[in-house]
Amino acid sequence: MIEILFSAPESYGGKYIPPIREALDSFGLAHRIETECSDPERVDYIICAPNGPVTDFSPFTHAKAVLSLWAGVERFVDNPSLTQPLLRMVNPGMTAGMVEYVTGHVLRHHLGMDAHIRREKPEWQPKIPPLASERRVSVLGLGALGQASAQALAGLGFDVAGWSRSPKSIAGVRCLSGANGLEEALGRAEILVLLLPLTVETENILDAARLARLPEGAVIINPGRGPLIDDEALLAALDRGHLAHATLDVFRTEPLPGAHPFWHHPQITVTPHIASDTRPAHAARVIAENIRRGEAGEPFLHQVDRSAGY
Ligand code: NAP
Repeated sequence: MIEILFSAPESYGGKYIPPIREALDSFGLAHRIETECSDPERVDYIICAPNGPVTDFSPFTHAKAVLSLWAGVERFVDNPSLTQPLLRMVNPGMTAGMVEYVTGHVLRHHLGMDAHIRREKPEWQPKIPPLASERRVSVLGLGALGQASAQALAGLGFDVAGWSRSPKSIAGVRCLSGANGLEEALGRAEILVLLLPLTVETENILDAARLARLPEGAVIINPGRGPLIDDEALLAALDRGHLAHATLDVFRTEPLPGAHPFWHHPQITVTPHIASDTRPAHAARVIAENIRRGEAGEPFLHQVDRSAGY
């Protein structure tokens, strides 16, 4: 019997536990899933969200892995009590959701939709947008989500570059890495998409100096993490007209506080961390596959590299 602790806000249980049971059953894995634990030493796996009740993982001395329900693990990686293998959430539903968010918001800015959709009789001065092939988009972060987004944009014909820590080769995407690669990615980006994880190295990666490297009139789309951008520097770059717009899905404090200047800034679009949610049915399959691997002694999927922080 595989003992599983499910540690997440109460509202998650009804959505996640039934498909996880079903996926484990489909592998023939006999299991028990509990939301409260009286004997931590018996627990084999902990499925958890960073906002769940378990914050001290040290009593779970026999746990073979901690499986995060979230893709971003910045709230777990620094937890000194979490010494078990940490597996982050990657699944096709989450990737598809992010690709849709990114392509939708890139197309909004590329086509100038806000300017062209009129409700009143307009001054008839059409400004024809360029074709996608004439629009340079850069994607910072070429992991599960960045790579799929970059490929989708390239598939629409955009002139796409991507930047990552390790060098990559992706058909149709100019792949960059290192400090020079970042300079090039920023310098060409009429539209910049942030899909980096939040780590010590990426926090405030878009500071005033790097924002200034973007071409005048550039647009930023950030579904990665709020602290990737220096908020004050972003506001200053928008206010002085260097940047045209920022579409932000993630923030330093969430929900975004009511008095935050982002809410009412005419060149900022706020979306409430909806770029891509974890879809329970898709998540259940990857969770069950990792538990199957753990039981079979096979390497886990999507294991976090603690030294890199993601
Ligand atoms: P991932 O697979 O871990 O990919 C991360 C990418 O960032 C990799 O390409 C990695 O480079 C690159 N990277 C990391 N540190 C770097 C550095 N210092 N310099 C250059 N490149 C660096 O992550 P993912 O699944 O694509 O997710 C990305 C982030 O999206 C998550 O961490 C999360 O914060 C965010 N997210 C947001 C939502 C939402 O709804 N808004 C939903 C899901 C995820 P390598 O390829 O060389 O390792």
